[in-house]
Amino acid sequence: MYHRARMGRRWVLGLMLALLLAPAGTRAFAFPTCPGSDRTVCGGRIIPEAMGSTGFLTYNEWIAAMTQLQTDHPDRVRFDNIGHTAGGRPLYDVIVTDFSDPTPLSQRTGLYFNGDIHGDERDGTEGFARVIEDLAETTDATLSNDLKRLVLVFTDANPDGWQIGDYDYNPPNTNTFTRENAAVHDLNREWPVVGFQNSTTFPFTDPEVQSLVDAHGNVLHRLDGINFAYGYDVHGSAGAETPPAAQLMLDVLLSAGEFDLKRSMLQTQLFSQYMSNLSATTSDNILATIGSGTGSQVYRVGDWDTSWDIYGYLVSGGYADWQANQWTGLGAVTGTIELWLNGEPGQENTFGGFNQTIEASNVHSMRVAVRTAMDLALQPQQAALALPGPIAWVSNSFALQQGQGSGNGTPLTGPSVPPGRPYPATTDQFFRDLMPYADHPVTQLDASTITSASQLAAYSDVVVAQDAHLTDAAFITALRDYANNGGIVILTDGALRDLAAMSIVPTAAVGSDLVYAGYVDTTSGDPLAQGLHASISRQTYEPVPVGYPIDNTFSSSSSSVHSPAWWVDQTAWEAAGGRTAGTTGTSKTSLGEISVGQGKLRILGSLLPNPSGDAAHPFGVSDYAVTYVGYQLFENLLDATAQLSPAIVESCPLTTNPVVDSGCTLANVPESPSLPLLLGAPLGIIATAAVVRRRRAASR
Ligand SMILES: [Zn+2]
Repeated sequence: MYHRARMGRRWVLGLMLALLLAPAGTRAFAFPTCPGSDRTVCGGRIIPEAMGSTGFLTYNEWIAAMTQLQTDHPDRVRFDNIGHTAGGRPLYDVIVTDFSDPTPLSQRTGLYFNGDIHGDERDGTEGFARVIEDLAETTDATLSNDLKRLVLVFTDANPDGWQIGDYDYNPPNTNTFTRENAAVHDLNREWPVVGFQNSTTFPFTDPEVQSLVDAHGNVLHRLDGINFAYGYDVHGSAGAETPPAAQLMLDVLLSAGEFDLKRSMLQTQLFSQYMSNLSATTSDNILATIGSGTGSQVYRVGDWDTSWDIYGYLVSGGYADWQANQWTGLGAVTGTIELWLNGEPGQENTFGGFNQTIEASNVHSMRVAVRTAMDLALQPQQAALALPGPIAWVSNSFALQQGQGSGNGTPLTGPSVPPGRPYPATTDQFFRDLMPYADHPVTQLDASTITSASQLAAYSDVVVAQDAHLTDAAFITALRDYANNGGIVILTDGALRDLAAMSIVPTAAVGSDLVYAGYVDTTSGDPLAQGLHASISRQTYEPVPVGYPIDNTFSSSSSSVHSPAWWVDQTAWEAAGGRTAGTTGTSKTSLGEISVGQGKLRILGSLLPNPSGDAAHPFGVSDYAVTYVGYQLFENLLDATAQLSPAIVESCPLTTNPVVDSGCTLANVPESPSLPLLLGAPLGIIATAAVVRRRRAASR
């Protein structure tokens, strides 16, 4: 996941950490796996625990282990060849469910897990391989029963980058895992997603991606009808810290896409719950055990946020984004997990750096990740948006049609090409999608028919998003009168121009910039900025799904910018009596409130830009791509709150690890970490673990 430029210092830190953590004499086993009948040297398993492994699983060992699990447990494991790689290697998936149960697969809920799309980030597959064995061999009644209702699909998208680094036990080992496949393509840039698709990163070109899209998107999801609830794409990039500083265990990057309120809330719930569960299972974890023995904290769970807010950049064509896509992908709630990369210095001579303790931590992380997804998938939830009263929103006169815009929107053709998103694309859909969750009417208005404030009087809020309707003078007057009479007007994006049309600020005081992605730097403590997850949380919309391009770089600062962000000059705004709750650029107010007569007017400059067809978009363009930050800020503007229900109850234990004592009962499971979530997620989530927050440079 990360870049070689960072290797020098990290190598030293990693070595220090490895020396500190490696218990003497633990590399007792000569061979990493036991696919035969004698599993004695593997601790009774086919794939031994990480503390008994001498290195990463080779591709052939993984194939042999999965083959054996299918042979031993045909009622639980299906190991299928689904294609091949650019380098000619076979490509597989592993499907785990209770095949003996009569319930059709189409009536079970799907879960999706990819190990290592970057071949030099081995740890996801290390964890998932052991989870597969856990589930195949489990005698736990709860887990066994869960397998009648769930279909777990595991895969590894990059055997080329994996096998080329496999150690053959004939030292010296000179093999090196590679980020790319044999075609030297970064496979985490070419997945078919709705919105901008970067033509320089080989969209839908390589056989790995084509085969996985076909086998899982086209067949399992769309043909067989399996509804996928959750998914992870696992990478490795969390850097080594020098003890006694706590090592970062992992971070999560939220997927981008057109997510309605419920899906956005489920996304933040998933990763909040995951991190709560990790924190709650510290006693299971080898690192915590060592840490408690030495009195020093050895690891800490990281945090989740948008990819830009945590890592400083976004991608187009990411695997987790495809997993989340409702049209081209699986329609699951997903994210990218960034594990602590084992084997510092990482990509180079990884075997020499394999550390059992680090690997044990990563395997534990994957066990908890899978169990968290299983538990949530079995507890369907509803979203509820509590509004202050009936609200209205004004239609946007722009809608993107097929062929509109200067970018190539010609759909791809071919035997395994997934369907794209139909046209038109319109921000109006954002409001239509809110309606099912709202406790009061959410009414669509046509600006051309609004000529009097009396037509607006019934609404608690009137939202004008993006389209300012500047030529509808009677509408502007009605809007101002509505505010004067005590109404709340909310302007977003290009509709900030109505601040001038309503004579609140001069015309020249309202402007827009092009930015990397929509964002607001909020003012801590302001009511309009409340409920954000963390201090770095600021991205309000994703550019790629709505057609705005980004460059394929590892920092937004080295990318060209194309996404619109509206603002009002802070001086003019405050001179008019406005309060600044957030800015997008120096002295550019993008979140705030101003009194108008007996009412109020509130603004949010970056939320719902018009969908764009000006960059390549072969699978169509999304209506909107509001992040959880965008939802939170918008709800603050409305005086609304949202929550999921009913409360989540975690199974016990919270891991798939069969050796963990399952003597706990549900009543003993620490539920408190997730409590804030239940009361106000995601719009009031309390960070469960991370206190120190910073941007981390890495290469997703
Ligand atoms: Zn990666």
